[in-house]
Amino acid sequence: MRFEQYDFLPLIKENLASLGFKKPTDIQYKAIGPIMKGEDVLAIAQTGTGKTAAFAIPLLDFIAKQKKVVKYNGIKCLVMVPTRELAIQIAEAFDAIGKGTGVHVLSLYGGVDQDNQIFKLKHGVDILISTPGRMFDLINQGYVDLKNLETLVVDEADHMLDLGFLKDITDIMRHIPRERQTLFFSATINERIKKLAYSIVRNAIRIQISPDNPVNKNIEHAVAFIEMDDKRFFMERLVNEFPESKIIIFVRTKVRAERVCKALERAGIHSETIHGDKEQSDRMSVLNDFKLGKNNILIATDVSSRGIDIPNVDYVVNYDLPEVPENYVHRVGRTGRGVQKGQAVSFCSKEEKTLLKDIEEYIGSPVEVMKIDKGLYEETISFTNDETQNDWRTLLKEDEENSKKTYVPPVKGKPKKKGKR
Ligand code: ADP
Ligand code: MG
Repeated sequence: MRFEQYDFLPLIKENLASLGFKKPTDIQYKAIGPIMKGEDVLAIAQTGTGKTAAFAIPLLDFIAKQKKVVKYNGIKCLVMVPTRELAIQIAEAFDAIGKGTGVHVLSLYGGVDQDNQIFKLKHGVDILISTPGRMFDLINQGYVDLKNLETLVVDEADHMLDLGFLKDITDIMRHIPRERQTLFFSATINERIKKLAYSIVRNAIRIQISPDNPVNKNIEHAVAFIEMDDKRFFMERLVNEFPESKIIIFVRTKVRAERVCKALERAGIHSETIHGDKEQSDRMSVLNDFKLGKNNILIATDVSSRGIDIPNVDYVVNYDLPEVPENYVHRVGRTGRGVQKGQAVSFCSKEEKTLLKDIEEYIGSPVEVMKIDKGLYEETISFTNDETQNDWRTLLKEDEENSKKTYVPPVKGKPKKKGKR
């Protein structure tokens, strides 16, 4: 079935066509009908399969039609998301699909001045896309009123129902009508969270696509065994081998992000970092540079692993393995979006092998091993452009040479017993 055959407003169909959306993806095909009927839905589908439009299209269509006959009486739909970047991205998707329909969409997030957001709220917003923090601030100040809300969407639902955000979600319930539609969307879910989701809604319809394999089939992913101190040399090599590629490098901490950025800089490679310690304006400009290709290497923490949709990311590198196994699925899911193919590689050190095991258990199959023979390993380490490393290496080499010269092996001595060390 093509979008043309649906009973959407002609304007929405035109917008979908100009976005290049001809027919619904699997999750869109299965979710749009029930959402249009007003059902509660728990939808699980792999990364990059178009979950945003799966809820955006029917909600926009419904609200646009409603606006033609009913006077404005407040926010109709609230989409809860974990990060500011995701709030902005999802609002952009709604804007593109709803262009010209007169439906007002606003993204709310912290880290920026609230005046502009308040100004827009005062002029009437139909669909709000928000992170919890700023929204509660504005509810408390009386600028956000959700008493006529009809639909609550929780994107990245497993994350939003997990410990860090759960209280926000349960608090939100006190501000919205009991009679409402609730939609949960995510690429990953576990039993505990599933139960929790069902306890929040009645009679939710569950739609699950490819439940056995959470990693999108468009992503070729492998693991390379590389020791912690050698990772930067392999990163340097990968960048130099694919100089035109768009690469996202995931690291464990903000401090690591800055360190890896500096190490690459020393090797003559420009990259930019995105993490929670940065100003919001910085985060946005770094993300835009990466989207526009002004910078092709983005170093990120797990904050950016969820939901971010940047076309043409060729490679995801797990410079450090994620500590939470589902984040593996989300990180590698930043590539291979829509119909595109993508590649991901994880640098796994000795210390991280248990993390790899957890990931394999989570995804239900072993990650293919990228074999690096000893020669290639040594070569990668010694071919760095990092001058400080070269200096250090030359010194070490000279030192080795000197010690070889002065070292006199014992001539006599008992022969070692075989097999014992
Ligand atoms: P998910 O939330 O499932 O990870 P997104 O909603 O971010 O995925 O969508 C991934 C990409 O697929 C986006 O770039 C989006 O524009 C594109 N897309 C969504 N639906 C369609 C469609 N029906 N046809 C073509 N491309 C689509
Ligand atoms: Mg998404």
